[in-house]
Amino acid sequence: RLHEQLQQQRGNIRVMCRVRPVQDGHTSIVSCPLEGLIIVSPPDRRPQEFEYDCVFAGATQEVVYAEVSPLVRSCADGHNVCIFAYGQTGSGKTHTMQGTAEQPGLNLRSLQDLFAIADEESRDCTWQLKVSMAEIYNDAVYDLLCPPGNLASTPLEVSGLGPGELPLTAERVLGLTWRTVSSLEQVLVEGSANRTTASTALNASSSRSHALLSVRITATAADGRTTTSTLHLVDLAGSERVHKSEVVGQQLKEAQSINKSLSALGDVVSALQRRTPHVPFRNSKLTQVLQDALSASSKVLLVCNVAPEAASASETLSSLNFAARAA
Ligand code: ADP
Ligand code: MG
Repeated sequence: RLHEQLQQQRGNIRVMCRVRPVQDGHTSIVSCPLEGLIIVSPPDRRPQEFEYDCVFAGATQEVVYAEVSPLVRSCADGHNVCIFAYGQTGSGKTHTMQGTAEQPGLNLRSLQDLFAIADEESRDCTWQLKVSMAEIYNDAVYDLLCPPGNLASTPLEVSGLGPGELPLTAERVLGLTWRTVSSLEQVLVEGSANRTTASTALNASSSRSHALLSVRITATAADGRTTTSTLHLVDLAGSERVHKSEVVGQQLKEAQSINKSLSALGDVVSALQRRTPHVPFRNSKLTQVLQDALSASSKVLLVCNVAPEAASASETLSSLNFAARAA
């Protein structure tokens, strides 16, 4: 269904909402009475209704991936694809993207799917899959797969050229490690270990940074023609608003750069959805890094994660409003 919707005229942007299970001892203020519909009933305010391409409540990782799989598969057909998990800390972004060993999320399932395609179609094409893992913290980009000896805590430079100006073979993030994937589980384990290391080195909690897993697919046909496309899987930093009066120093800087990058992402997605000629990529490192995969022909999925407890009501409404702007 998502795939059919993607064929339509609007920008290639779809928005999904995923409600995580309610915590023990709490009641849910979120209901999903109809397909695609979500109603939030805060204790102190009127209920509010939102409509998206898809709404999941109580869905398993398999069910969520089944909806996302056509997008991932279209990446093997040469489309650039970006998948974002948005939401406040504790809303289920990492569960959706990374998941657990028993219940892997979109990252592992996407890689598995791409490997399966490469295998199925190996008679017509030779496939090469490369991955990179990066973290964006305080508007600086860090390599999570950098070779031992290179410091993970040294930020990488990002080319300031526009999407059409960067030569096809040039790297957007200068010096970022792209590793040819032989065993995907190993890469994911390594990447998440590095994420912790990098976060510790930077003295940051992982919820204050954006985590990017990127897969570059190159298909070479028998006649030697190649197509390259990229799938970006992004676990965004927590979207919760931090009140200026409550934080100082490092935390204030973190909060400001998260706000700036999430609103820059919202502006870019909204410009793509409306097909406006100017897309404002330059306002944050996040949008700058992803700009080659965020064009009118790219496919973008925003997964808006929400927590169903009353205490999260205002953050839930704020996340749903962000998502509504992209839809
Ligand atoms: P975030 O990355 O947005 O901060 P997490 O993914 O870490 O949030 O989720 C917060 C907690 O809720 C974790 O303990 C996680 O395992 C649990 N959780 C989130 N989503 C689900 C889900 N769909 N089903 C079961 N548990 C979930
Ligand atoms: Mg997380």
